[in-house]
Amino acid sequence: MKVQSTRVCRSEILTEKWGREQVADVASFCACREVRHRRLVGRVLALLLFSAPATAADPAHAPGVRVAGADATSWSASVCPECDLAVVGGGSGGFGAALAAARLGLQVVLVERADQLGGTSVRSGVTCWEPGVGGTGIPFDLYRRLQQIPKAVGIYSFGRHLVWFNPDAEPYRFPGGETVIDPTRRYADSLRRHGVKGLAADEAACREHLHGVVFEPDAMSATMKAMLEETGRCRILLNTEFRTLRAAAGRVQFLQLANGQRIVARFYVDATGDGRLCHDAGCEAMTGQESRDRFDEPSAPLRATNKVNGVTLIYRVASRSEAGIDPLPPDVPAKCWWRGSFPVAQMNHYPNGDLNVNMLPTMDGQESLQRGEQASYAECRRRVLAHWHDLQTRYEEFRRRRITWIAPALGVRETRRFVGEYVLTERDVRGGLSQQKHPDVIAIADHSLDTHGSHAHGSGELREPYGVPYRCLIPKGYRNLLIACRAASFSSLAASSCRLSRTMIQLGQAAGTAAALAAQRNVDLSELPPETLRDALRAQHVQLEHPLREELRQRLSTARRTLDGIHGMWSL
Ligand SMILES: Cc1cc2nc3c(=O)[nH]c(=O)nc-3n(C[C@H](O)[C@H](O)[C@H](O)COP(=O)(O)OP(=O)(O)OC[C@H]3O[C@@H](n4cnc5c(N)ncnc54)[C@H](O)[C@@H]3O)c2cc1C
Repeated sequence: MKVQSTRVCRSEILTEKWGREQVADVASFCACREVRHRRLVGRVLALLLFSAPATAADPAHAPGVRVAGADATSWSASVCPECDLAVVGGGSGGFGAALAAARLGLQVVLVERADQLGGTSVRSGVTCWEPGVGGTGIPFDLYRRLQQIPKAVGIYSFGRHLVWFNPDAEPYRFPGGETVIDPTRRYADSLRRHGVKGLAADEAACREHLHGVVFEPDAMSATMKAMLEETGRCRILLNTEFRTLRAAAGRVQFLQLANGQRIVARFYVDATGDGRLCHDAGCEAMTGQESRDRFDEPSAPLRATNKVNGVTLIYRVASRSEAGIDPLPPDVPAKCWWRGSFPVAQMNHYPNGDLNVNMLPTMDGQESLQRGEQASYAECRRRVLAHWHDLQTRYEEFRRRRITWIAPALGVRETRRFVGEYVLTERDVRGGLSQQKHPDVIAIADHSLDTHGSHAHGSGELREPYGVPYRCLIPKGYRNLLIACRAASFSSLAASSCRLSRTMIQLGQAAGTAAALAAQRNVDLSELPPETLRDALRAQHVQLEHPLREELRQRLSTARRTLDGIHGMWSL
């Protein structure tokens, strides 16, 4: 009875603010509120069993149940009454956050400006998860779902590489790196990067230990959407742009969308890649390379610079029966005009035999920032056509292929990052878990420090995995906002290692889980006991320790090619 009267009241507020059409839309989203509420009670009971804080016995503290309370003022007047968590950005981080939170019982709204999910992994053609520790939670679920679709995903090993050129066995030096689908490898083989000395230094170790995941972008996007929809608790708003927000006293109060709608939620996750929410919330941004003394990083330049990682416009080529060289448009020169010679490229074979071509890079990061998004894209498109023309001209093997797809969005590795309660630095990355003393590690990674273009700085493979503390996701001073994307609280050097897609999904999984726990305990995001969050992540099969715990090893090795256990909701 109480719930019903609340709904009528909110419906009136909505009609006044939005007009009848938008209200009808929200009303249909909320139509099953009572049914969902009953289901939620079951979920909440599971939640309570797990952690049982002092206040948790009161169902009013459960997610989705609106109560008056000290911190409830900002969300009790919500124009979106079911919304516990608003996630902006449907790329790797946003997907991880929305799925984790919805699986744990929160009502989630996911806002994405593009017409499909996946972000850089899909629309920028980064259809590859490089080798790395940590991808045992949501990334593994996603992989198993993709396995259900023919030729949607495969595990790769290295093929040729220019640094391994063997004149006795190869007619010429390959113009970059090549990976090939390797049916003898399993997902578990892709979960390690550290330990190799480097590509040039140790070919045998790289061939034996470095394996990654290649996937079809449309299958990835559709699978992400299906997994979110199966929760019954995630409303996905595609073609919807976040415009700005209102914040006060360390809290986001509401989001304003470009279509005029507002979203009021209890918690917010910035997964926009560029930290759009954090920027509008007035958080402190970091752009370019920090000076050596800012974070005491040995490989940082003495003085701060404005250099950022290079951008790449990725393209795809497929086989064709007739050999030939694709003609160039009149305004595209055949010779490289922006540097001495065309850049090398990383080329990954898709399961269907097509090639994904990733120039390293297509444009310097600063140049791209100066030109702006549209002008950079147009110029990079010209460079792509010239790059491919050059490959076909110089190497006969490429003449039986043609370009079938140029990514609709530029691949941007780095723009800005935001200062959080902790800033991850080179010392964390190189020190590794054995040196770090953080109580709140919520994700681990082991990718090398890795930059492209004129942004070069000290790099190299790592000896062991390192941890990303939860505090890197909390923008300094904020209590109901997390950032779970490549713009999180990393120094420039640290970001060059941990920006990888699976690591971003892990950050998202931690952010969504944190929101569910905070809602259940009725506390701010910054007040969560670290071990509670870590236990909740371990319960979702997230790898937080190295080497892998036996339970995780078993799960990976006995993974069957069925959907068993993937659809299920988790309990905290
Ligand atoms: C060229 C290149 C090659 C790479 N190679 C690899 C690789 O081989 N392996 C690997 O693991 N990683 C690789 N990476 C890194 C990795 O792909 C990215 O760092 C990672 O995907 C970023 O994820 P994210 O969630 O932070 O952002 P994204 O995936 O970019 O997601 C951000 C989302 O937010 C949306 N958005 C932005 N602003 C708004 C707004 N105002 N309103 C609504 N929505 C908005 C965007 O449309 C996008 O969908 C590569 C990156 C690049 C650029």
